[in-house]
Amino acid sequence: MALLSIIIPSYNEEENISRTAKRLREILTEANISYELLFISDGSRDNTFAEIEKEAKVDSNVKGYEFSRNFGKEAAIFAGLKMAKGNCAVVIDCDLQHPPEMIPEMFKLWKEGYDVVEGVKSDRGDESKLHKLFVGAFYGVMSKLMKINMNDTSDYKLLDRRVIDVLLDLKESNTFFRALSFWAGFKSTNIKYEVQERAAGESKWSFMSLLKYAIMNTTSFTTAPLQVVTFLGILSIAFAVIMGLQTLVRYFMGNAVEGFTTVILLVLMIGGFIMLSLGIIGHYLARIYDEVKGRPRYIIARETGKEEAKHE
Ligand code: UDP
Ligand code: MG
Repeated sequence: MALLSIIIPSYNEEENISRTAKRLREILTEANISYELLFISDGSRDNTFAEIEKEAKVDSNVKGYEFSRNFGKEAAIFAGLKMAKGNCAVVIDCDLQHPPEMIPEMFKLWKEGYDVVEGVKSDRGDESKLHKLFVGAFYGVMSKLMKINMNDTSDYKLLDRRVIDVLLDLKESNTFFRALSFWAGFKSTNIKYEVQERAAGESKWSFMSLLKYAIMNTTSFTTAPLQVVTFLGILSIAFAVIMGLQTLVRYFMGNAVEGFTTVILLVLMIGGFIMLSLGIIGHYLARIYDEVKGRPRYIIARETGKEEAKHE
């Protein structure tokens, strides 16, 4: 019988663990699907791991891992994919914002032969206008760059074993899970769901962390921003030719442009372009540096069912 792995990245979710485990168990048992629940605690500073251990004690289908520190949701997802033993796996948030009722339906689609079942948001929950605008712009740009429609996609998806193995074989450590399932290809389909209210606790995303996330993901996924540098260069050269000619003509006609104003404006503009370009290139350098070091993406400090190492 096919085994379904449920991967649940959890960061400071002590209030949600037992609730989420209970809901998942009810739904999966009722649908008669054999499953394992993999909770990946992403270096939580509250009792998340203790809660997971409690669950693991009463249900042998539950397994939990604790990172040595916070490595981010991407790392948690990939640790889950690595640990998963299932024929397919579903990645789902711990806060029940991704309705678990959809899982049997996703599983059915998998049985019908789909390798990837994408959860697509039909409603963005109670997010603020600014947040929606920002997220909309980010996915708009990403979709254009990747020539696929990524709007309203999320990390809620089901992957077949073949896709999981493809993702695990990737050598890169700066990954963007949401886009990689598209990149991998395979036979995929969408399933719409409504984003629920967070069950408990609060979102870990601030505006700044979202902005950082957007920059990280763009630079780790595509080199398109580097073309902006070329574009700025061409723009500057075109401008230089026009202004150069005009300046020379005026000089020989005996009425050269006077004053520092022009010089100051030009220096500021060119300086801005150069620094922006260096910044963009710098981001790519940083990504290359990260990848070259080849550090592990996460470190597992604890595992359910194993005694914590004693310092004697
Ligand atoms: N999460 C994680 N590591 C982090 C931040 C979040 O594993 O550094 C998990 C979190 O526990 C939750 C999921 O990722 O299960 C989504 O996080 P959150 O609800 O804070 O984000 P939002 O739903 O607002 O996008
Ligand atoms: Mg959430």
